[in-house]
Order: sequence, then C-alpha cells, then structure tokens
Amino acid sequence: MRLLSILCFSMISFAVYAQKKPNIVVIISDDHSYQTIGAYGSKIAHTPNLDRIANEGALFTKGYVTNSICGPSRATLLTGKYSNKNGFKDNETSNFNHGQNSFIKELHQNGYQTAWIGKIHLGRNLEGFDYYSILPGQGHYFNPDFISSVNGEKEVMEREEGYVADLVTDRALNWLDSKGKDEPFCIVIGHKNTHRTWMPALEDFGKNDNKNIPLPETFFDDYSTRKAASVQEMSIDKDMQMGYDLKMFENIEKMRADGNFKRMNDAQFQAYVDYYKPIYDELKKSNLSGQDLAKWKYHRYMVDYLNTAESMDRNIGRVLDYLRDNNLEENTLVLYLSDQGFYMGEHGWFDKRFMYEESFRTPMLMKMPGLIKPKTKIESMVSVVDIAPTFLELSGTEVPADMQGRSFLSVLEGKKKSIQDQLFYHYYENGEHAVSPHFGVSDGQYKLIRFYKRVNGWELFDLNKDPKEMKNVYGNPKYKKVQERMEKLLRSEIDRLEDTEARDVLAQK
Ligand code: CA
Repeated sequence: MRLLSILCFSMISFAVYAQKKPNIVVIISDDHSYQTIGAYGSKIAHTPNLDRIANEGALFTKGYVTNSICGPSRATLLTGKYSNKNGFKDNETSNFNHGQNSFIKELHQNGYQTAWIGKIHLGRNLEGFDYYSILPGQGHYFNPDFISSVNGEKEVMEREEGYVADLVTDRALNWLDSKGKDEPFCIVIGHKNTHRTWMPALEDFGKNDNKNIPLPETFFDDYSTRKAASVQEMSIDKDMQMGYDLKMFENIEKMRADGNFKRMNDAQFQAYVDYYKPIYDELKKSNLSGQDLAKWKYHRYMVDYLNTAESMDRNIGRVLDYLRDNNLEENTLVLYLSDQGFYMGEHGWFDKRFMYEESFRTPMLMKMPGLIKPKTKIESMVSVVDIAPTFLELSGTEVPADMQGRSFLSVLEGKKKSIQDQLFYHYYENGEHAVSPHFGVSDGQYKLIRFYKRVNGWELFDLNKDPKEMKNVYGNPKYKKVQERMEKLLRSEIDRLEDTEARDVLAQK
C-alpha cells in the first residue's frame, strides 16, 4: 500500500512538473552557517523565511561543498565540475573562464530566460545570461556598485544608494516582473550577506543583541593532534580585529576612514555610530582581558552575524511572497544554499576553508510543491557539484558528459534514498587565514584528510565517536583497516575526478 502511494505520488508529481519546464530560483548566500538557521535546529537564530522553505519543502541534512570558499564554490555550482576541472581553484590566483559550459548556458539553449543578480565573485563578462547585475568582487553592504548587462551587451557600472540585500532583491524582482512571461526562467540571486565584515541593515540593529548565546564546547580548543588547525589565523580571540571586524573604533574619525564606512552617506554613518558607540564605551569601562575578552568578542561577532542574517532573511521572504502572489509557486523550484558553511566559534574560529564539518557542510533547503512534499528531510549526501546536473535533468535538458556531479532528482522524487556513499574535497588556497591546502574524502562515518604545502600530514576522524573532530586517529593501530579502506577510497576518487594535483601529492609520499 505504502509503495503504491509512493508510486502514485511520484507519478502525480512528475505529471505536474513534466507538463511545463519548471522555473528555477537559486538563492545563494555567503558564509551562512547551518548552525544559525531555525530549520536546522538553531535556538538563537530568527530565520522565518528560510524556515518557510524547509517547512514547505526539503531540508538537506548532508549538503556539502567541494572547496569551501566563495569563488570556487560558485564556479562548481555553475559548471557541475570540481575546481581542478573548472579551473577556479582559489580566490587569490584564479580567473574564471566564462567561455566554459555551465548549467545556465544549457538551460538558456533549452529555452530558459536566465539572470544572475548580486554576488558572483567570478569576475565579469558573464556568458549565457539574458540579464545580469552583479557586485564587483566581494561587493559592499552599503551603497554597492553593480555591473549590469542586458543580452550580452556592453557592461554598465553604477552605484546605488541603499543596503545590498534590499537592492539585490529589488533588482531580482524587477527582472522577474519585466521579462517575458511565456518562457521558463532561471534566476540566481547572490547575497553578500553574511560575509565578513558583518554589517546589518539599519533596521536590523538590536534584533539579537540581548540573547544568551552559549559558547561552543570547543571554543578553547588547544588543537592537539591537529597541526593544520594549530597554525591557522582565523581565531576569534587572536585574529578577529576590534576595528575592522567588530566596529570598535577609538574615535569617529577612525571609523569614518575605514573602507566600509567611507562610502556611507551621513545618515547611514550616523546610525552606525549611534549603535556602536555605546557598545564601545561600555567595553572600555569593563576593562576585559584574556578569556573574558575572547568571550565578549564571540558574543559581538554572533550578534553582528545574526543581525546581518536577519537583513537577508527578510529579503528572501520578499522573493517567496513574489512567487506566491504571482501564481508561480507551483511550478518553481526554489533552492537556498550558502557557498559554504562557517565557524560560529567552534574550535574558537570564524571563517571557513577546512574540511571539518562546519565549513565542509553547507545549508541547503529546497521547495517545489509538485515535486517535494512539505517537511521532507533529505539524508542523501549531496554536494554543490551535484546541483547543475539535477537542474538539467529536472528541466529535461541533456546533462553534458563532462559534468562531474550526480543528479539527485531521483532522491527528490522519492525513488532513491541516496545518490552516493562518499564525498571528495579539495581546498587549494594557501594565503589568507593561513589554512593549509588539503584534500580528503568522507564516507559520513570516517573522514580522511591529507594536508600539503603549508602543513604536511594526514588526519583521520571517526565522526560517530568524535563528531566535533577533536581527535585525529591517523596512525592509531585500532583504525588500521579503516585507514587502509579510506586511503583506497581517496585514491579512487582522485582517479575518478582526474585531480592531478592531489595525485602528485600522494605520489611524493
Ligand atoms: Ca563564502
């Protein structure tokens, strides 16, 4: 009976979206952690609109990235290929080749209208878009510049006054309103929120300030057994800056001289002064030092971050409302994801990059009424590289043979539980925050990581026994068999994905 009802559901849902090519709306945020989303169990975060996507659709419990950093993650999303194949390995030295194929180009050729609005962090002169209006590089929270182009024509750069998440959403809704109504569409809305340095819209000051935000258990991690973790420079205590990050400036002149504040108009700047000056005065009076100061920094970091997330969540609500009010909900797939996860004080950190769970995983929520039942939990391991082939299959577009991701449409349809048993990861950048390049493989229970260049060495974690990844058991005789099996798995993934850099590192021994 159950099988029959699953079958009927699948057939009905298939019928709904097979009649007409579904629209696709991707909302990709920046550095937004699953730990701070209500639907993922956060007790402190207020994310009603993200929770709405999860309630009306699916929450992915094992959504991951392949290279935990801004540009490379978006390059993988677009191309359905790992960094070694799409060429965008790191933010510091790579240039994205827009001449290569992408799911956007494939959809465009299959009759879709296509647009990207907001942060992309892959240079300019995009291809395959009817319209784009992107932030140059990292973009700015206040009065951002936009680079825009219609139908591949010459780019125009302009500055618009206001707050970035509001303006990006305005532009996205304007495009949805003004484009033709007959063809299906695919729009990517790229938010700058919640990237460093965390700057909420003026109306979101104070929303999370008085919450009791517990310190993560691993906040005062000593990194024993993990060399790469011990040499990083992304500690809230040691590396988070009082001025740049936490807006604690000695005086108003110094604050105004900081790049983020220089571009503000007087009213915006005054609102920031009015909010932060009393916090600074209070801090001076308190004379904190040592662990107490580290805890204070953690709290202020979290408050700024959560307030900045509120500014985005509110705008995601505007997009969901637009789809509802324009009768587009039924036939539109909405995907929310971050370009990677982020440390919310775990191991004492902010930032990302590592293959440890908090930055390896990313929040992923998806809804489409004809396809996904409300409150679905998707337990299959899926990765950002799998999204492009999934969209293509969903839209009835042939998946190019050189895309490396695996479509998870069968999981969305309830036909399969899982599409893969392991995930490969490779982080290349060797600069900011002093995180050593590394690659590895996880099967969900065990994770094997090989660090190279900055730190040379292996790490193995037993995620069932040690979910916080505090104890490296590489070389422990008890794990000999596991280690051998994981090393074999790692080599087979490297071969499958033709990752020559990783292969060379292993060959050196
Ligand atoms: Ca990012």
